[in-house]
Amino acid sequence: MEFEINTKGKGLILVLSTITLILMMIITTLLWWFISPRLHEISNILASLSLTLLRFFYLVLISGSILIYLTSLLERNFLIAKFAVRAFIKILFPLTVFLGSLIGIRKDRIEESFVHLNNAFIKAVKKKFKHSEILILLPHCLQNSDCGIRITYNIKNCERCNKCDISELVKISDEYDIKIAIATGGTLARKIVIENKPKMIVAVACERDLVDGLREVFPIPVYGLLNERPEGPCFNTRVSVEKMKMVLKYLLG
Ligand code: SF4
Repeated sequence: MEFEINTKGKGLILVLSTITLILMMIITTLLWWFISPRLHEISNILASLSLTLLRFFYLVLISGSILIYLTSLLERNFLIAKFAVRAFIKILFPLTVFLGSLIGIRKDRIEESFVHLNNAFIKAVKKKFKHSEILILLPHCLQNSDCGIRITYNIKNCERCNKCDISELVKISDEYDIKIAIATGGTLARKIVIENKPKMIVAVACERDLVDGLREVFPIPVYGLLNERPEGPCFNTRVSVEKMKMVLKYLLG
């Protein structure tokens, strides 16, 4: 079966981050323009050195951005530099969210777009993994709220009654021989990642938790599957088991 990673929806983050980059360059140029007379007074060498540094900064910014945009749009690995992705995740993303808040774009829309962009990076790299290198990480809200079984410490305690998707997900993990865990929050998720040392994580969560998680565990790649919330947030959430299977098949090669 052809695996189509859903990478639609990354347009919003790309447009907003481009505007953010342009604003960053304008602000930096204005700052330099204001202080340059002072620098000339101190030393002409200092002034020309600062201009060279500014040009170098623009060069890094523009070439890194072009690499990221080409990689995500064409889903091909254009020598994707880890530092460019890191800069995007650590610096550009928070600035983009800030810009979005100023112009009235909801944070969750930007986060969702970012998850699609992140998934496009994973598709572009085309890296395959062994069974033992992958970890499926699930949120606790997938468990049916009426279920009294304690699955947090061992998800395999699930009695597979099929009242929620945990049942099928545990079955998939057995079938594909892949580690699976459930986390009640960021602290437990971190502990699970440290203990299991995965090289690839397939995480199910809402956009906010996915973005927090993938930024935190970087450079470990995280393929994000957004949960469905038919009964509202954090309650009896669902996930497409078929999508999970397709992602795992793709990552295993
Ligand atoms: S499938 Fe597992 S976790 Fe879900 S309700 Fe049944 S026993 Fe509980």
